[in-house]
Amino acid sequence: MNAFGKIYPLKGGLIRKFSVSATLSANHTCKLLVIGGGSGGCAMAAKFSRRLPKDSVIVLEPSQDHYYQPLWTLVGGGVTTVAASRRPEASVLPAAAKWIKHAAHSIDPVKNTVTTVEGDTISYEYLIIAVGLVNDYSKVPGLTEALADPDSGVSTIYSPDHCEKTWRNISRHRGGRAVFTVPDTPIKCPGAPQKIVYLADAYFNKIGVRNKSELTYNTCLPVIFGVKKYADALMKVVKDRNINVNYRTVLREIRPDRKEAKFVNLDTEKDLTLPYDILHATPPMRTPDFLQNAGDVVNDCGFVTVDKYSLQHTKYPNIYGIGDCTDTPNSKTAAAVSKQSLVVEHNLLSTMSGGQGSRRYDGYGACPLVTSYRTCIMAEFLYDSVPHETLPMNQAKERVISYYMKKDLFPFLYWNFLLKGRYHGPEFVRKIINPFGN
Ligand SMILES: Cc1cc2nc3c(=O)[nH]c(=O)nc-3n(C[C@H](O)[C@H](O)[C@H](O)COP(=O)(O)OP(=O)(O)OC[C@H]3O[C@@H](n4cnc5c(N)ncnc54)[C@H](O)[C@@H]3O)c2cc1C
Repeated sequence: MNAFGKIYPLKGGLIRKFSVSATLSANHTCKLLVIGGGSGGCAMAAKFSRRLPKDSVIVLEPSQDHYYQPLWTLVGGGVTTVAASRRPEASVLPAAAKWIKHAAHSIDPVKNTVTTVEGDTISYEYLIIAVGLVNDYSKVPGLTEALADPDSGVSTIYSPDHCEKTWRNISRHRGGRAVFTVPDTPIKCPGAPQKIVYLADAYFNKIGVRNKSELTYNTCLPVIFGVKKYADALMKVVKDRNINVNYRTVLREIRPDRKEAKFVNLDTEKDLTLPYDILHATPPMRTPDFLQNAGDVVNDCGFVTVDKYSLQHTKYPNIYGIGDCTDTPNSKTAAAVSKQSLVVEHNLLSTMSGGQGSRRYDGYGACPLVTSYRTCIMAEFLYDSVPHETLPMNQAKERVISYYMKKDLFPFLYWNFLLKGRYHGPEFVRKIINPFGN
């Protein structure tokens, strides 16, 4: 016996009894390969599994669990638990698709192959890349250690491992400095870093410690929100609630031993050191390693280069991208994925039949900006920050109905329709109830 198991002589040569799966790689072939089984990957796998024969679709996804990430904001605010945001991956993938539980390692877009971290090779005719974004904690020295320390006061809602800590920090806060950050990288749901500020403010008020607390929101942006209509409304919120806002101010280091955070102003390059009692970090983000090394499939920053309207790859017509990992200039949200999924479905079907897809993604994104435990500003907008509201009322106003849409309606739509490839955003409803709205 050697380290890999017993060797048995067989007709065709030698074979190792115990180590087959660990040492031998496999080859797979499919019509459509979907890389990533998150929001976009599940929706696309569901759509094409219904249209193509069984096992024509392979999904490459290493995680055993699927998360409804938008719920993590409410987990951080103590409204729900991380368990409520989690379901087994097997339960959200279509039965007719073949699931390979590996991570993609490399892509050869000329040979139409993808290799996995475990060494398998998958040959595809068509490919959808849907690998989302990952947190890049290492970009901020001290952040990884501070997140791991249960008593550091540092947390983030951007991870299932740390969003319950956000609630612990908020609920145990008895006064002092609460600092909130936004990095200078693309991030998912750019509204979430300020939603948690408003929930913290509301909770501190509720337990009577708000007047002993100073809340500071440091953002890389020059404005509070990228769409003027909602930025105006949010400016009123931060003013009324006495929240300090520092623009163009980015977290560079955390010193957990001294409970200090070092920031830099992107315009003046001046440093700013702030002491904190609790700190909510929105980590820098990037695409997964697999895309960072994907040659001409990606741009210089590792985002899949697709046409912003057709979502087809700019160089390889048999490749499409969906969701957070593409270079389209929209807000990176599950709401965007819902609308993109219809565009990718139509256009990829045209590509498969030798044509050119004509569906266009208009940049739709939505951001339910929770402003308290019962109110929310429902931002909806297209490319170039043009508001595009579904309800026949001013959605920039803080409303109770918008809060319950975020808390109850959207999770329902996500699990029951979006992941099954049957939800394409509210355009249909909008045409009926708000046909002349902006
Ligand atoms: C705190 C928070 C709040 C949010 N709030 C909202 C909101 O209110 N409204 C809203 O619409 N959106 C919100 N979002 C954003 C939304 O969750 C994402 O935009 C959406 O999930 C993007 O879908 P995706 O398919 O691109 O990526 P994901 O859903 O993240 O899926 C990517 C998948 O790819 C897999 N993967 C990664 N690397 C590899 C690899 N090498 N090989 C194979 N698979 C791989 C991952 O395991 C993952 O399953 C929020 C997100 C967070 C974190």
